[in-house]
Amino acid sequence: MTKTVGNWIDGREIESASGETFETLNPATGELIARVASADAADVERAVESSRRAFEGEWGQMEPVDRGRALRRLGDLVSGHLEELAQLDTQDSGKPIYDTRCADLPEAIGILEWFSGMPDRIRGATVATGSGAFAYTRREPFGVVAGIIPWNFPLDNAVIKMAPALACGNCIILKPAEQTPLSAMRLAKLCQEAGIPDGVVNIVNGMGPTAGAALVSHPGVDKVSFTGSVEVGKLVMEAAAKNMRPVTMELGGKSANIIFADADLDLAAPGSVYGMFLNQGQVCTAGTRLLVQRACLDRVLDQVTSHARNIRVGDPRDEKTRLGSLVSTEQLERVKNYVALGLEEGAQLVMGGTPPRDASLTQGSFYLPTIFENVRSDMRIAREEIFGPVLSIIPFEDEAEAVRIANDTVYGLAAAVWTRDVRRAHRVAHALQAGIVWVNAYYAGSAASSFTPYKQSGLGYEAGPEVVSDYMRLKSVWVDLAASPNTWGI
Ligand code: ADP
Repeated sequence: MTKTVGNWIDGREIESASGETFETLNPATGELIARVASADAADVERAVESSRRAFEGEWGQMEPVDRGRALRRLGDLVSGHLEELAQLDTQDSGKPIYDTRCADLPEAIGILEWFSGMPDRIRGATVATGSGAFAYTRREPFGVVAGIIPWNFPLDNAVIKMAPALACGNCIILKPAEQTPLSAMRLAKLCQEAGIPDGVVNIVNGMGPTAGAALVSHPGVDKVSFTGSVEVGKLVMEAAAKNMRPVTMELGGKSANIIFADADLDLAAPGSVYGMFLNQGQVCTAGTRLLVQRACLDRVLDQVTSHARNIRVGDPRDEKTRLGSLVSTEQLERVKNYVALGLEEGAQLVMGGTPPRDASLTQGSFYLPTIFENVRSDMRIAREEIFGPVLSIIPFEDEAEAVRIANDTVYGLAAAVWTRDVRRAHRVAHALQAGIVWVNAYYAGSAASSFTPYKQSGLGYEAGPEVVSDYMRLKSVWVDLAASPNTWGI
């Protein structure tokens, strides 16, 4: 019998008020994994009521240090269920088990560990006054946070919304992506085991325009945190604006990965392949535009293509696989259309450009690592987010041109620069309009390191101590010490 999965509200798994469900498939095989409750406004209403009760109850009264302990226990439980959660995400999203086991799960645990140390380190300030007053600021949680997340790192996306929201004393209602609802549901149950009170973490499953839209426009939601496309991010902002609610937005990217001729190519070539093809290229910070100085173009092309040819494409459950299935047939169609567009635009295909021929993979949404050269910055494949394993190589002459091309985009999420010249590394890092810049690395970082996206890539913080300014209000308290009457001149 097909497995069924509900919503998670008030510490219980329940079906949707309407009884509606949707299917979640394994994209590597096309097989049905489970039927999942499809929430609408009625379920959102229940979730918001439950979160409000939790916020006004035990959770809101809890000592910060105890909130931290609860997050630490959750981190330990995630660690203890690493294999189960890794398998769930691999099955639900098509990503290789190597990645879920060795990268996604350790990252989720690291985020929970880091935020578990935060609650009792949150501080306000004493404000300078004359002797007649005492004034201070205190940070207070918003209350009910709505977290809307995409499918590319199902568990990590859930944790990066949940951990800061909870560390700051809020409750959270998560709306996982409809493609990958399973691991967030498991995480919610682990929250209960960790002793996080019921209602602090609620999950509504379902479609964006119904469950998601009902959640972000609900007047009982105090803050909205969204990760996804720019297009939907704008809709979410509009909905939140109607209730004057603050938003955190982590949106798309078209990151430039710049290799200068003086770089150590033995590091830059594999680093760029990793930075592009990890997670089938379905990463908002992926280095999708590889800018290469002409003086080293042939060598880079050789080394990058030879590394990319070594990527093992195949069954996501095989631990040797590094490129699994895209998340859905829709995503596969999107990638195919962009590759056709790249050819029409006159880019030259160096490798890939088709699904693999292997008969065992034909039921899944697989696509070979694909590289285009002679791409120009004005081509759509260099401007639009493809979200698949498609790399565009764009040549440049000098540093000024590299920076100009890198910044010639509406996005500003991440970038990387490979060079041995320390002055150039910092000059370029400072000139790039991107929230994250890696130097001689790709995808390095930790929960301690904050950034704000540039341009249309988003707003606000998701990591590091700065999240308090995104997930908490700041209250100013002014206390009179002088007791001298204010007669208002009367
Ligand atoms: P992606 O292209 O990565 O799927 P989307 O922006 O389409 O990104 O989706 C990200 C998340 O936003 C998903 O959980 C999706 O269900 C949700 N979503 C889509 N449309 C809306 C909407 N109108 N309001 C709120 N959430 C939405």
